[in-house]
Amino acid sequence: MQIPEASNFIQEIIVNDLTTGKRTEVHTRFPPEPNGYLHIGHAKSICLNFGTALKFGGKTNLRFDDTNPTKEDVEYVDSIREDVHWLGFDWEDREYYASDYYEQTYEFAEKLIQLGKAYVCELQGDDVSTYRGTLTEAGKPSPWRDRPIEENLDLFRRMRAGEFEEGRYFLRAKIDMAHPNMNMRDPAMYRIKKATHHRTGDKWCIYPMYDFAHPLGDWIEGITHSICTLEFEAHRPLYDWFLIALGLDNRPQQIEFARLNLTYTMMSKRRLLELVQNKVVMGWSDPRMPTVSGLRRRGYSPSSIREFADRIGISKADSMVDINLLYFCIREELNASAQRAMAVLDPIKVVIDNWQDGREDMIEVENNPENPAQGSRRISFGKEIYIDAEDFMENPPKKYFRLHPEGEVRLKGAYFIKCVNVLKDAAGKITEVHCTYDPASRGGESPDGRKVKGTIQWVSVAHAVDAEVRLFDNLFTLENPAAVPEGQNWMDFVNPNSLVKKQAKLEPMLGEATLADRYQFMRLGYFCLDSEDSKPGNLVFNRTVELKDSWGKSQAKV
Ligand code: ATP
Ligand code: MG
Repeated sequence: MQIPEASNFIQEIIVNDLTTGKRTEVHTRFPPEPNGYLHIGHAKSICLNFGTALKFGGKTNLRFDDTNPTKEDVEYVDSIREDVHWLGFDWEDREYYASDYYEQTYEFAEKLIQLGKAYVCELQGDDVSTYRGTLTEAGKPSPWRDRPIEENLDLFRRMRAGEFEEGRYFLRAKIDMAHPNMNMRDPAMYRIKKATHHRTGDKWCIYPMYDFAHPLGDWIEGITHSICTLEFEAHRPLYDWFLIALGLDNRPQQIEFARLNLTYTMMSKRRLLELVQNKVVMGWSDPRMPTVSGLRRRGYSPSSIREFADRIGISKADSMVDINLLYFCIREELNASAQRAMAVLDPIKVVIDNWQDGREDMIEVENNPENPAQGSRRISFGKEIYIDAEDFMENPPKKYFRLHPEGEVRLKGAYFIKCVNVLKDAAGKITEVHCTYDPASRGGESPDGRKVKGTIQWVSVAHAVDAEVRLFDNLFTLENPAAVPEGQNWMDFVNPNSLVKKQAKLEPMLGEATLADRYQFMRLGYFCLDSEDSKPGNLVFNRTVELKDSWGKSQAKV
């Protein structure tokens, strides 16, 4: 295979490895910890790992990093599988678990003990950190650092056998207590944890630390390039140390990139879990959540997320990506493909006084002006229609081009109407707007060249479909909710208007919508059915994203 050209710094490393013959193939892995649902940051990592391997004709493994038995759950494993597949990537039969390697990992640990490179330590709690020193001060050797090899082996085996309570002993690497990199000051390798693991049950009561298990998992699987986020940069010397100390050849290379941060969004799984547990959101798949399942439910497509991942690229420096770029990617795709429809979110009834009772016209409207191949549809128009309360004002300001007592407006694809009377209830709330129509304006065309600036959507009262329509806004009011001002709580920055529910009237076609359908509701944005709450007879639509233009601009285009 001809080596493709590199388009980022990770690919440059790979091209170099393939050119020099250091590597003959590319093998990456995506290593999620099954302690939460995947979010858009993980999606970036998935696109990077799978995308890079695909580009170089290589492979990617899915490896569940299940080294922490207490926080993990099968529910998360299933959701991760579903999300990776949905994003469009396939790990074939290469689904692994860090726990698959517990036996091998244990043997590697014994080997390090035998080599005099690991020991069983008895320091407790604060002493562990006191002995480790600080960034400016060297640590000092643990009193157990020079325990004889045989004694270490014996204790480690008895740790495994369950003879000791949690915290009594731990196994650590014997590296350098004065090392400038704190991670190298005799880091922990194994701790006692009397917990039931979701896969290995009660077989183990000692569990390896991530820093020890991860390089071994990579090596066992033949990973060539182990891509991870920047916070692991300072762990790389340790990653290498374990593999070198064990004398393993063909070592995988760890490469770090900057994690994705999105404005008005939180990526920490721990905090997302808090939002779920405190019922601030409807669950992990709430359409406001940055989770893959939330984006899916909101109507995002896998290809728009891959496009987003592609556009943001990868770098070595942490930064914040504007959430509008994500909205842009989804909107661009939907604009080209979504079927147009009419919906009224805050209905008020319009009665056309000079329309003959019982008469119905079939109005022809195009399905997608961006793509004539999508054809057109016919909609019933009659004496009573709904328009949006926003499209009528009794006392409008100047330059108000929607319906008002003095003006004329175009009903999309139908007729020009003029307001002649307004009916109100005892409280002064408008109950009906009475209009007359111009029979010569059929199709919404001007009969005599007179200009009508406003075009508004409408839904026939006789044929309207009822639905709940959910409008979403950013989940947080703060651009970077991960960095709240001193003394304040991040939860207080949850946007109280992030979900608004409307009882809407929709054009009849929308009663037949399926989960796969995507619509542009004229002037309102892009919508799809809610995969969890929508039921026949009880429809729920989600707004995936707003239209790009503000109302005023979109007005000119319809
Ligand atoms: P969190 O901090 O949200 O709990 P994590 O890093 O602990 O996330 P993992 O399940 O360990 O979550 O992540 C799996 C992979 O996804 C890792 O390789 C990790 O580096 C990557 N990843 C996690 N968050 C992001 C992000 N925001 N941007 C890019 N990659 C990410
Ligand atoms: Mg992690």
